[in-house]
Amino acid sequence: YYRRSWSSESSDSVISSESCSNCYRVVLIGEHGVGKSSLANIFAGVHDSIDSDCEVLGEDTYERTLMVDGESATIILLDMWDNKREGEWIRDHCMQVGDAYLIVYSITDRASFEKASELRIQLRRARQKEDIPIILVGNKSDLVRCREVSVAEGRACAVVFDCKFIETSAAVQHNVKELFEGIVRQVRLRRDSKEK
Ligand code: GDP
Ligand code: MG
Repeated sequence: YYRRSWSSESSDSVISSESCSNCYRVVLIGEHGVGKSSLANIFAGVHDSIDSDCEVLGEDTYERTLMVDGESATIILLDMWDNKREGEWIRDHCMQVGDAYLIVYSITDRASFEKASELRIQLRRARQKEDIPIILVGNKSDLVRCREVSVAEGRACAVVFDCKFIETSAAVQHNVKELFEGIVRQVRLRRDSKEK
């Protein structure tokens, strides 16, 4: 693992080789408009009035240490999937660098759900031999009247794609903490089974 850090004087990101066994690089992917940045902002604690121990490592990279099941874990969250300014390479980059993925769709947008399946397939192709932790995230669960994808469909899709499933609402902050704790648990499960 490599840990990215910002030097205070310059805006260049520095890749140091400081090993970080409890650091996980988690990448948000999914159609534009499904709520990836909204989830990232909650993670970053933008809405917290009291504590904010989140470091912003760049406009679309956030780092935060959480306690999950009595053990701390540092998540480096990447929200650069929609960053077209950087060009298409950023998507290939995203597919390569994650230790774990949150594939997000909106429950109000069936096309985004279909896109999520496509992304799962792309990810499998890009990282063939790896067992990568993935959570399929149905966001905007607060918009009950606009629902186009049922909970059962989301769950069934996750079974087919061999990943976890959760519905969230960034708007009312429902299940967002659970989402980030969940991805930490998924990474740990694989780590622990490797150690045995
Ligand atoms: P991104 O393109 O995937 O990063 O999506 P954004 O985070 O920019 O969100 C797109 C739009 O959806 C914004 O107007 C958000 O306010 C809205 N949005 C995001 N999450 C939710 C949610 O859980 N519920 C509702 N009602 N709106 C949301
Ligand atoms: Mg965004």
